[in-house]
Amino acid sequence: MMANPLFDRLFGVHAGKTTPFLYLPSGDVITHQDFLVLAAGMANVMINIGLKPGDRVAAQVQKSPEALALYAACVQAGLIFLPLNTAYTAEELGYFVENSGATLIVCDAARERSVSALGRKLSARVETLNADGSGTLADKARDMPDSFETVAREGEDLAAFLYTSGTTGRSKGAMLTQNNLLSNALVLAEEWRFTARDVLLHALPIFHTHGLFVATNIILTTGGSMIFLPKFEAGAVIDHLPRATSMMGVPTFYTRLLGDARFTGDVAAHMRLFVSGSAPLLAETHQQFKHRTGHRILERYGMTETNMNTSNPYDGERRAGTVGFPLPGVELKITNPETGETLPDGEIGQIEVRGRNVFKGYWQMPEKTAAELRHNGFFITGDLGMTDEDGYVHIVGRNKDLIISGGYNIYPKEIELVLDEQPGVLESAVIGAPHPDFGETPVGVIVGEQGQAPDLTIVMEALKASLARYKHPAKLVLLDQLPRNTMGKVQKNILRERYKDMFF
Ligand code: ATP
Ligand code: MG
Repeated sequence: MMANPLFDRLFGVHAGKTTPFLYLPSGDVITHQDFLVLAAGMANVMINIGLKPGDRVAAQVQKSPEALALYAACVQAGLIFLPLNTAYTAEELGYFVENSGATLIVCDAARERSVSALGRKLSARVETLNADGSGTLADKARDMPDSFETVAREGEDLAAFLYTSGTTGRSKGAMLTQNNLLSNALVLAEEWRFTARDVLLHALPIFHTHGLFVATNIILTTGGSMIFLPKFEAGAVIDHLPRATSMMGVPTFYTRLLGDARFTGDVAAHMRLFVSGSAPLLAETHQQFKHRTGHRILERYGMTETNMNTSNPYDGERRAGTVGFPLPGVELKITNPETGETLPDGEIGQIEVRGRNVFKGYWQMPEKTAAELRHNGFFITGDLGMTDEDGYVHIVGRNKDLIISGGYNIYPKEIELVLDEQPGVLESAVIGAPHPDFGETPVGVIVGEQGQAPDLTIVMEALKASLARYKHPAKLVLLDQLPRNTMGKVQKNILRERYKDMFF
């Protein structure tokens, strides 16, 4: 019998089961067996049109059960799945298809014309799959057999190219193996105590590691089910929470729930677990959530290239403002960015990780891979942080966001924490702006609490009272909101661009 570890363990084990896998907002339920039939149909179509194991399938489709089945179909057929953010323009899509050498593009019918032109140019086939599950791919799949002979793969074979979010520069294609994905899913399911009885409220996108691999793969390894919502919408989430046991979200999910009066302690009382990640969860959000619901949100830390690296404990103290401990099987060290030497606890440096979760490298970017993935297996994450005396990892920001002013290192997070505490301040982002004397100088961008405009002179006074002089922002500006991408990440590059001439 041939084997395909990822398919067998996540999907194949559920063959013939009539247990619920996806609960849809329409009230429909997709069982494990229904889902496998959907996947088998698509796998048959893709092999029939000539795709070969190792080929890339680029999917820019709305979230739907069929879109998730396309992931399963790719794994079953030995194809490399390449999900893409639905917000990308035709031009951006062109980059991903060209960069990955995808031979099939699956897109929404509404985009078929522009995507077909792209397909002709790059010799890729185009099939459609719409939000309601219709489209040429689904039509063809319906005429196919209900089963598909799983293509043999090994743990070290590639399962997905997942492009990074592009927060700090152009997105990079992270090559992820079957082992990368499987090992992480098994560790997380155990750490977070998932079982077949779990019903996960799923409102995340499925083109990103959080919604696709963390959420979905965990549920698949345990045989549980998901309430599968097309997107995050506070009202819908509140309506569906009573049937869920657990939820995963980005920090903005939690701030939006807290901002909704319908989100009461009762709504969340029966829940087992709330997980947050993909961007920093403000300690204040953690505390407000605890106050409202009695639950401590469990924050974890990961990235496209490595899956998840650290997590706060399921049992034991979930410490606000930290991302917890390295997961079993993940080695984490804090190093000096210049020398690569390991730093003692309490000192800030770059975060490096090693383990079965760490990717194979960036697709067709050998220099970038060589610069970030050391020969000894440690990956330089690009994040800065430190480990405290109890072993909790704290993230202070990204290496690229570090401000060097007059020769001093300034960690934006340190200033942001003080800013966030000021009355009337909802949140903040500190960036470095080019400066004729200092090279760079900090600028504080502030968002006021609803309907309030904090007095910037008073805020500045407070900063001066608590931070060393070289860390004082040269300027504070007030904005209605911070620019964020779909994963709720603050786009500091946009702010840097906006204020680059401020001191010239
Ligand atoms: P790019 O690499 O293209 O610039 P990106 O790093 O934002 O984009 P992702 O892989 O989606 O792309 O995000 C990973 C990053 O998200 C991490 O490196 C880290 O900076 C941030 N992150 C994830 N979880 C947390 C967390 N709990 N707290 C703080 N930051 C987090
Ligand atoms: Mg990154």
